[in-house]
Amino acid sequence: MSITSTTRPLHVGDIAIMSLSDGHLDIPAAYFSNASDEEIQAVSPTTRFGATCWLIETGSRKVLVDAGSGSWLKERFPETGFITAAGSSLINASNEITDIILTHLHADHIGGLIADGQSLFPNATVHLQNTEWAFWTDENLVEAVPEDKRPIAQLIQTLARPIASQIKLHDGDADLENGIHVTSAPGHTPGHQIVRISSGGEQVMLLGDALVSGVLQFANPDVHYALDSAPETAAETRKTLFSELAAERIPLAATHLESPGFGMLTATGGGGYHFEPLA
Ligand SMILES: [Zn+2]
Repeated sequence: MSITSTTRPLHVGDIAIMSLSDGHLDIPAAYFSNASDEEIQAVSPTTRFGATCWLIETGSRKVLVDAGSGSWLKERFPETGFITAAGSSLINASNEITDIILTHLHADHIGGLIADGQSLFPNATVHLQNTEWAFWTDENLVEAVPEDKRPIAQLIQTLARPIASQIKLHDGDADLENGIHVTSAPGHTPGHQIVRISSGGEQVMLLGDALVSGVLQFANPDVHYALDSAPETAAETRKTLFSELAAERIPLAATHLESPGFGMLTATGGGGYHFEPLA
């Protein structure tokens, strides 16, 4: 069974990375709380986020990075959940997925793992930062968060339960072998992580939600996002990553760029960056 993507895979040495589009989400401009009037105009009244997941094929393993929204966010974001819809090529080959790396536990990244209270990828080991799992599964969490964030926390706890037995936790940097590493990149959530892929002297970085808005945050990495758990930390993480990506000429992709979304960064001075999509 082959898993189809609308785009050609990106090859990094011996590794193939396929971008899978789960759809898109229209995000209100008000979510960028500290943006200037000019920046807000560029994303008003809403800005379209892509919803990209990735399938990494190493020869011996098929590693899914995030799983999209599944059926869980359709009321708010009707154009989501495509990669794990019934009959999709990923679902038809779900038993072949050996590993799943979760950048974090927000529902638009893990909803696709679960339907009818069951894991859709029962054979996969699910890799996650310890901090992320501990934060979201804390039984006191729902009461501790502000009232407007409670539905988000409740949904994540519902989604975490059916995959609990598959989770393999790590702290910070972890070598997942076959050229796949994960690194802690906190701020968007407490235990958010990114994926570093290297093979044959080439590299690619999958940023998850370390960047959410390509329209705003390449040019100004200090723009905050309402769903960041620690916006200042998220901005520091973003700047550190952008600086490395530009200096080392490493291609990147991020969940909410439109698929396939691979590109390179160049520093433009004043702390901003220019994103050039790969041809
Ligand atoms: Zn997201």
